[in-house]
Amino acid sequence: MQKTTKSKILFTRAKKSIPGGVNSPVRAFNAVGGIPRFLNKAKGAYLYDIDGNKYIDTICSWGPAIVGHSHSKVLKSVKKAAEDGLTFGTPTVGEVELAELIKNQIPSIEMLRLTSSGTEATMSAIRLARGVTKKDKIIKFEGCYHGHVDSLLVKAGSGLLTLGNPTSSGIPKQFAKQTIVLEYNNTEDIKKTFSKYGNSIAAAIIEPFAGNMNLIKPKKGFLETLRKECNKHNSLLIFDEVMTGFRVGPKCAQGLLKVKPDITTLGKVIGGGMPMGAFGGKKEIMQHVSPLGTVYQAGTLSGNPIAVAAGLSTLKLILEKSFFITLSEITTEFTEGFKKAAEDNGFDDFSTDCVGGMFGLYFSKTRPQSFVDVSNCNQDNFKKFFHLMLENGVYLAPSSYEAGFLSIQHKGKPLKKAIKAAHNSFKKLKKLI
Ligand code: PMP
Repeated sequence: MQKTTKSKILFTRAKKSIPGGVNSPVRAFNAVGGIPRFLNKAKGAYLYDIDGNKYIDTICSWGPAIVGHSHSKVLKSVKKAAEDGLTFGTPTVGEVELAELIKNQIPSIEMLRLTSSGTEATMSAIRLARGVTKKDKIIKFEGCYHGHVDSLLVKAGSGLLTLGNPTSSGIPKQFAKQTIVLEYNNTEDIKKTFSKYGNSIAAAIIEPFAGNMNLIKPKKGFLETLRKECNKHNSLLIFDEVMTGFRVGPKCAQGLLKVKPDITTLGKVIGGGMPMGAFGGKKEIMQHVSPLGTVYQAGTLSGNPIAVAAGLSTLKLILEKSFFITLSEITTEFTEGFKKAAEDNGFDDFSTDCVGGMFGLYFSKTRPQSFVDVSNCNQDNFKKFFHLMLENGVYLAPSSYEAGFLSIQHKGKPLKKAIKAAHNSFKKLKKLI
């Protein structure tokens, strides 16, 4: 058994000062039970906790650590930037370079604004869409998460095409009523909704590969229909690529899926492990953002020089020629290894999927296509498997509703060890159920 004494003591202490003992809910292990590990070091593909345990990381800080933790080149540029000044509150060279680099990679982005988080990016994108179209309603998809934005913390109403209800207290019902929640991968719902509400829909926001209900890929024709209906009704299409941006490929999800959004939101990888987000799109849309236009948006630490330095050096590393080929090979070997480990131990109700450096593990015979499908996966088996893997030194996301992430540093030993741990864990799981 791993030692967890120090984490246990610190968790008790943390809960006295921080709600739930954590600064972001999923870290609390509520979905899997047990004691969250308090970490004090991350290097390459590995995490280290305060009790002296070492884990293979399959979360990568929920996406950003794509080149591996504490990469020497990223650290070098961060140190240099820190020595030059932590924050200026003025324009800088680095933020222009980062904006140009992102624009060069993503043809749908002609101009962009940096923020300090993904939430700020999506919140600003929604305001921009409403400002540009002069319409109020938003479409979102069940199971997609876009940060803790009032009008996006909404679940479906009681019937198809009814307006939404808040999923958090503190959100006025009237806000939620401006959001329509549809089923992911349901093309018919999109058509029906636009024919009923098209005149008042400012935008549809979607994760082009959903990563907040495990990993779900869009069915052929789904995003294309959304694009077509948005065009038909003068509504904007927002791709929330906070998670998928520079995580699934060098041109993000839109590059792989060949559907062009009007606005893209980014975060995670573009900050290289520092707080960062961005939203961007066509010039004619982005020039509505203040100080050019009337849609107000600002941030004391937006474009922070340390975050920009980390982001720039991370992007330079991942845009090297074979980076995504290697990363995809690593992720495919990982998921195929897990699938085989399950099969070898008699689990024929386990499936996997991946794209770029992002993966899904499902305790179900087939890959889920919607939030309901994910909810129908065997949660009990996941919980047990999670803890068996943790004991075997592999840190999976502590919820079956999360996608997983690997880095380029998982190649070789960490990858092989993680697959071996999966074999051991499935073997033990078989005896437990
Ligand atoms: N959009 C997506 C798709 C996300 O996955 C997240 C965070 N997981 C956000 C927005 C919010 O980003 P942040 O946590 O940086 O506010």
